[in-house]
Amino acid sequence: MKTDIVIAGTGVAGLYCALNLPRDKKIIMVTKSDADDSDSFLAQGGICVLKDESDYDSYFEDTMRAGHYENNRESVEIMIRSSRDVIKDLISYGVEFEKNADGSFDYTKEGAHSTERILYHEDITGKEITRHLLSHVRKLENVTIIEHFTMVDIIAKDNRCYGIIGRNEDGEYTAIEAYNTVFATGGIGGLYKHSTNYRHLTGDALAISLKHGIKVENLDYIQIHPTTLYSTKRGRRFLISESVRGEGAVLLDKNMNRFTDELQPRDIVSNAIYKQMEKDGTPYVWLSMKPIPPETIKSHFPNIYKQCLKEGYDVTKDCIPVVPAQHYFMGGIWVDSDSKTSMDNLYAAGETSCNGVHGRNRLASNSLLESLVFAKRAAKAIGDTKPETGDAKIEIGDTKIYDNCKTEYKKAVFDEIERMEKIHGQDNNEIKCR
Ligand SMILES: Cc1cc2nc3c(=O)[nH]c(=O)nc-3n(C[C@H](O)[C@H](O)[C@H](O)COP(=O)(O)OP(=O)(O)OC[C@H]3O[C@@H](n4cnc5c(N)ncnc54)[C@H](O)[C@@H]3O)c2cc1C
Repeated sequence: MKTDIVIAGTGVAGLYCALNLPRDKKIIMVTKSDADDSDSFLAQGGICVLKDESDYDSYFEDTMRAGHYENNRESVEIMIRSSRDVIKDLISYGVEFEKNADGSFDYTKEGAHSTERILYHEDITGKEITRHLLSHVRKLENVTIIEHFTMVDIIAKDNRCYGIIGRNEDGEYTAIEAYNTVFATGGIGGLYKHSTNYRHLTGDALAISLKHGIKVENLDYIQIHPTTLYSTKRGRRFLISESVRGEGAVLLDKNMNRFTDELQPRDIVSNAIYKQMEKDGTPYVWLSMKPIPPETIKSHFPNIYKQCLKEGYDVTKDCIPVVPAQHYFMGGIWVDSDSKTSMDNLYAAGETSCNGVHGRNRLASNSLLESLVFAKRAAKAIGDTKPETGDAKIEIGDTKIYDNCKTEYKKAVFDEIERMEKIHGQDNNEIKCR
């Protein structure tokens, strides 16, 4: 197959990139699962926005403080300054955010935010945004979406990318040649035993990058979400959004006493929970949503309310057992501020990339925004390039394809995470999650 641009991934990063590319370019999007099986659909809490100029310094400082001041200041500035345009775009696609009776936006707050600046749609903000983006992409005549097609490698020669190689469900390999390639393959949660991520998100683009010597950064910066519903069942863990704590929910030890400030950054709250679990000898701590009025629980968190009810907990009356789990990946494939990787004609956006916005730790509700802002910048940069003629003339047989992607990729990625942990002297909770 030949195309102008190939995008691996149909989450917010891939979809918004496609929507911002010139309509006269042929685009092929591939996804490992169904087009709507992405973490973007799972986002609960919301999406940050610069609500007015007076909040700029505070928003910037909150993002930097959460990231332990290791953030790339230029990327943070770009993200915050672009946020209002992105929200305008989303609204033009039909996305609805909660409003007050007077028609103004109803902003909410999450951990480590010093003020309310998060737009949300019930507790299914990701679904509201992503379903609208997907339906608009499906209408584009220049875009073809191929589902259940796993990118297993790229076509590369002399540090130049010429497209991807993928495998369909029948095990058949196909090369898709393209002038430009975009990695938008999301996070790495599928590599972990306990994660809130979809199981098929296994850091494939990262492993491919490691194989080809494409620059990666901070692979050991992995965010553990403090509160996922404790379960002994297999599969992904159900997230209890941080905005629940933002609205007043408290963490309790085995004697039902509070043991930490629930609104500190995620890494600090996760560590406090681990310490308490160790002290109490329990595999979880309790979360009480009782400080939140029942009608607010049902209107703001209907999905959490229903899911917990299914598991036997009425959160308007009962405490729920919660445990930290792998949640987000701050590191990734190094990109510049236009989302360009260290390999020519190869871009990366969304959770798989690392433009340094999040530093060592992501501020809640910054990731949907970051994915969208930098996916649009990738699209703009690609749109501005003039395609050269000629191709790599590489046959699939010329490139070594991993036979057992998941195992080989997992080893490659974890080897690199461990190497970086040694460099940074990290001793993170993620070890416990592997
Ligand atoms: C439970 C949960 C709640 C969250 N809540 C929030 C929130 O409230 N606010 C916020 O800002 N962020 C939140 N996040 C984080 C946010 O959802 C993600 O960071 C963001 O959606 C990532 O978007 P993406 O497009 O990079 O990746 P994804 O949406 O994960 O999409 C990845 C895509 O890549 C495809 N893919 C993967 N590997 C391959 C391959 N080898 N070949 C082909 N396709 C492949 C997948 O099939 C998928 O289509 C949450 C995350 C989770 C898990």
